[in-house]
Amino acid sequence: MKKALVCGAGGFIGGHLIKKLKREGFWVRGVDLKHNEYSETAADEFIIGDLREQKVCIDILDCPFDEVYQLAADMGGAGYIFSGEHDADVMHNSATINLNMVHYGHKAGIKKIFYSSSACIYPEHNQMDPDNPKCSEESAYPADPDSEYGWEKLFSERMYLAYHRNHNLDVRIARFHNIFGPEGTWTGGKEKAPAAICRKVAQAQEGGEIEIWGDGKQTRSFLYIDECLEGVRRLMDSTTFRGPVNIGSDEMVTINKLAEIAMEVADKKLSLNHIEGPLGVRGRNSDNALIRKEFGWAPSIPLKDGIAKTYNWISEQLKAAKNDSDS
Ligand code: NAD
Repeated sequence: MKKALVCGAGGFIGGHLIKKLKREGFWVRGVDLKHNEYSETAADEFIIGDLREQKVCIDILDCPFDEVYQLAADMGGAGYIFSGEHDADVMHNSATINLNMVHYGHKAGIKKIFYSSSACIYPEHNQMDPDNPKCSEESAYPADPDSEYGWEKLFSERMYLAYHRNHNLDVRIARFHNIFGPEGTWTGGKEKAPAAICRKVAQAQEGGEIEIWGDGKQTRSFLYIDECLEGVRRLMDSTTFRGPVNIGSDEMVTINKLAEIAMEVADKKLSLNHIEGPLGVRGRNSDNALIRKEFGWAPSIPLKDGIAKTYNWISEQLKAAKNDSDS
């Protein structure tokens, strides 16, 4: 039986990835600072540990894993990453985790390691025009990410690639573009736009309003979790390609349009109140030419389908929270 280690197992993508690996027949060990808030883990073994600690990394790598997925990071949505208040933590915490995992993974003789990078590595100057952002993989250099989160991701990409060159470690790197779906953070300050907007729409009374950061004309694309994992597994199984490659949707929408989609799903008519808030770049979209060329596949689920599933899940969370406070 193949063995997989998932770091960041208590997080959104890690939790879903473990379910997928279990369905595919892996034995899975998960590691995280915390358990997943929204569901029981499907992992065979779940270790609570801090991957900034070298000893924790050495201990969790005590058997020869066929596949390691390094998803652990200090991260959140725009409110967390772009406010500037968490820059030192984001850089120090995530870089330390990656320094430990690549080094001790190599020492332990792991066969393959996946690293989750981000669209946030792309240069700010290529993402000023909301209608025409450039995020093809080779456009990452000369580098100029707009956040320290993006700089750390770029540094870590390079470190994993250096371990490949110098130590022949089999590394795989994907740049995720806004992954969303059920069991993602939906409240508390670290939630991202799709979850935040679904929550606001679910909470609003018919005819009311919801707040949107900025003018809402900034563009993004959002990828449903199932297709993210499909891309990750294809990358891991490839015999010829290690990335970095974009894993994202190329259905680009404005944030105002995203809100409209959530309203359609909820069957509510609300007005948008544009307020000041942390924004990030003006436009971003996944360029899927490379993933299509390598795998003959790219994400294609319509945004509205993923929003419908996410909206329903967030509505249930709100109802459960209300029942708890009423009782
Ligand atoms: P998440 O925050 O839900 O999961 C990350 C997990 O890492 C959390 O459960 C957290 O507790 C854990 N973690 C943080 N510090 C740790 C430490 N010191 N030791 C052990 N565990 C620690 O995030 P996610 O959305 O599941 O993202 C997974 C990965 O994908 C991250 O590396 C993230 O940067 C990357 N990514 C995600 C997106 C997205 O849209 N979700 C986009 C681009 C990149």
